[in-house]
Amino acid sequence: MERRDFLRLASGSLASLVLGQTFPDAAHSAGLTNPIVYLPKNDLPRIAWTVDDGCSQESVRRYIELAIEKDIRLTFFVYSAMAPWRNNFDLLKPLVDSGQIQLANHTQHHRDLTQLSYSEVQKELMGCHYFIKKTYGVDARPYYRAPYGAINRSVMQAAADVGYTKPFSWSGSLADAGTIKPSRLLYHAGVSIEDGGILIGHANNLVAVNNFDKLMQMVDNKNLSLVTLKDVFG
Ligand SMILES: [Zn+2]
Repeated sequence: MERRDFLRLASGSLASLVLGQTFPDAAHSAGLTNPIVYLPKNDLPRIAWTVDDGCSQESVRRYIELAIEKDIRLTFFVYSAMAPWRNNFDLLKPLVDSGQIQLANHTQHHRDLTQLSYSEVQKELMGCHYFIKKTYGVDARPYYRAPYGAINRSVMQAAADVGYTKPFSWSGSLADAGTIKPSRLLYHAGVSIEDGGILIGHANNLVAVNNFDKLMQMVDNKNLSLVTLKDVFG
């Protein structure tokens, strides 16, 4: 082994394997967990439908209207610099108050947190945190999702130090961060809507809301109830 390869390995998580020793894991000892991908097992089948970003005024509005009409529970990961989170306030506020829609933190400017310093990560999270607190009167902690799912131990440590201790990933995706053909969206939904899943969709375009009945049919066919993350994780 080249010396530089050894040093690279020795400085990383493979060090313990290479050296045949166990090193204390600083992040683990600080109580950090890896991003949560699935809901814990449960007797009643269920899925958490999460909706990210909110770049489209119309999409956010229709998601809220559909939540009311179909009486379903959703979690919104708020990208707080986006105007729809202000502009849909009147419609959204009562659902936030009742807990039917949970607001969680998706940062202020949707940057790749792994490229930022410790304090910049905290600034991104707290920018969104204060927006949600001031506007909707709720504390979004400890729930957050890193933009692009880009996360590492440094990001988790910075987040945990401001109370964001539950990073969320997803088990299945509607793949609709950008526009997608309805047939592709439904294909992704078909393989992603499952018991114990954390589904990710995006309020950035109208593809999901325009096909909502078909998506709900998949949820109903599997007898899944829709839960917010708070319903499950407290
Ligand atoms: Zn996002």
